[in-house]
Amino acid sequence: MKNIAILGSTGSIGTQCLDIISDYPDKFKVKALSCQSNIDLLKEQAEQFKPEHIAVYSKEAYERLISEGLSYPVQIHFGMEGLLSIAKLEGVDIVLTSVVGNIGLLPTVEAINAGKDVALANKETLVTAGSIIMPLAKTKGVNILPVDSEHSALFQALQGNSVKDIKRLILTASGGPFRGQDKESLKEVTAAQALKHPNWSMGRKITIDSATLMNKGLEVIEAKWLFDVEPDAIDVVVHPESIIHSMVEYHDSSIMAQMGLPDMKLPIIYALNYPDRLETKLESLDFTKMNQLNFEVPDQKTFPCLRLAYEALRAGGTMPTVLNAANEILVHQFLDGEIGFYDIPERIEALMKAHNNILNPTIEDILNVDSETRDAALKM
Ligand code: MG
Repeated sequence: MKNIAILGSTGSIGTQCLDIISDYPDKFKVKALSCQSNIDLLKEQAEQFKPEHIAVYSKEAYERLISEGLSYPVQIHFGMEGLLSIAKLEGVDIVLTSVVGNIGLLPTVEAINAGKDVALANKETLVTAGSIIMPLAKTKGVNILPVDSEHSALFQALQGNSVKDIKRLILTASGGPFRGQDKESLKEVTAAQALKHPNWSMGRKITIDSATLMNKGLEVIEAKWLFDVEPDAIDVVVHPESIIHSMVEYHDSSIMAQMGLPDMKLPIIYALNYPDRLETKLESLDFTKMNQLNFEVPDQKTFPCLRLAYEALRAGGTMPTVLNAANEILVHQFLDGEIGFYDIPERIEALMKAHNNILNPTIEDILNVDSETRDAALKM
């Protein structure tokens, strides 16, 4: 039996994780749940899974939950302190960090320090602090288990092999809803259009990131830290069918691909039950019903966010933090209809140019740069 704490249980990954857990009551037990503010769903989840601890990030939602209460005895924690308490709970084996944004950083550090394996669905943590997280995990002897489908694919393709034999990583990208279009035709595009992702059902922020290709850019940075490879050894190829979830090429030119129908439940199950595989009810891929698999070079002119992510990765230090923090603010402004589609990359680039990069940053440096960048993005 593995005891699980879920940070961000009401989001897309969190709810899918609980769906899985309910299918394997003898394999997994939910010890703790948390959410930002969706306490109606959190209460439902808590009543079903009866965790001993829950945490709510937003003050208003926390106070409402305290006044409403639950039908069984449970410890209710509040704010960042609450997330940190849950991340280091005694008896927890795996912490799933599926919160959105930079909120995930400190709880991930806390979980690693407490010796917990981390199932990582929060990209921002490695994007901003990969240089701190990965060595810390190594020192503490804990596994960082990727939940992102691409990184899970790479992780699976690496089993039985050695990272020192990697020639390159090939991340696949669906290309998002605007694949094949040019800059001119996308200038006036709206959030509603960008939210129509062809293959994956995900949260709103990440769906916009898929439309700009920033999602792939963040994944390139994440891959660098997870698998300890240089930026030049990470390629991106557009693969609209999302059947191959990513590939590893080894020095002998052999390529290992991980495939399947696109379903986030597989990477979640693999991370939770690692290193063993579980029998699932997920649909099998029928090769005879597939017409063809297509591959294209990503269009970095139309989607400059991917280029910016490579630039931030090569610059290192706090530059990826600027990229990520600026992107988070700008994507929300785009979702609210306040700025246009191309304001996102243009403003990120301006903020990166203005940034005095701090090489070898501490967590404190990262958090400072993160909040300064958010302020600067809001003022633009
Ligand atoms: Mg992904």
